[in-house]
Amino acid sequence: MPMGRPVCRRRIAFQPAARVFKPAGIPGRCLDEEILSLDELEALRLADLEGQYQEAAAAEMGVSRGTFGRIIETARRKVASALVNGYSIRITGGHVTMTEYRRFQCSECGHDWNVPFGTDRPEACPACKSQSIQRVEEEAVSAGRGGGRGCCHRGGHGNGGGRGQGRRGARGENAS
Ligand SMILES: [Zn+2]
Repeated sequence: MPMGRPVCRRRIAFQPAARVFKPAGIPGRCLDEEILSLDELEALRLADLEGQYQEAAAAEMGVSRGTFGRIIETARRKVASALVNGYSIRITGGHVTMTEYRRFQCSECGHDWNVPFGTDRPEACPACKSQSIQRVEEEAVSAGRGGGRGCCHRGGHGNGGGRGQGRRGARGENAS
């Protein structure tokens, strides 16, 4: 790789909970694998999991709409190839930088989400459109959110594991 060539880093706002996905029952040495980069995974997360429009997702990653379109196209093809062909998926690499972000929570529906620093304060909850939203201070938000749904990795790698169940209702009015 030539030195000194400027690299446009893509912003990502989470780290994956698992780095390798592998079909059950097939020895690893027999498997082909698709390499999914962190920016490709982030594109999938924003567009396909969160359902964001490509403009918004591109802005969040700090790339142009066209670049985002190429990233996500590649990402989808790799995932589809792995599923169809029975390949494993390894998540690694990519020119990325972790985004520092602020965390907001909706007091209507309890939805919480992240907003990168350097962007406007959100006006309404993306889930229910309520405007009663508040900033949530949280330690080490950039450390390892995003995984954390499972219950088996508690204390495994620092912050971010072991939340999940009960989190929604954890702070307040769990009307009963
Ligand atoms: Zn809401």
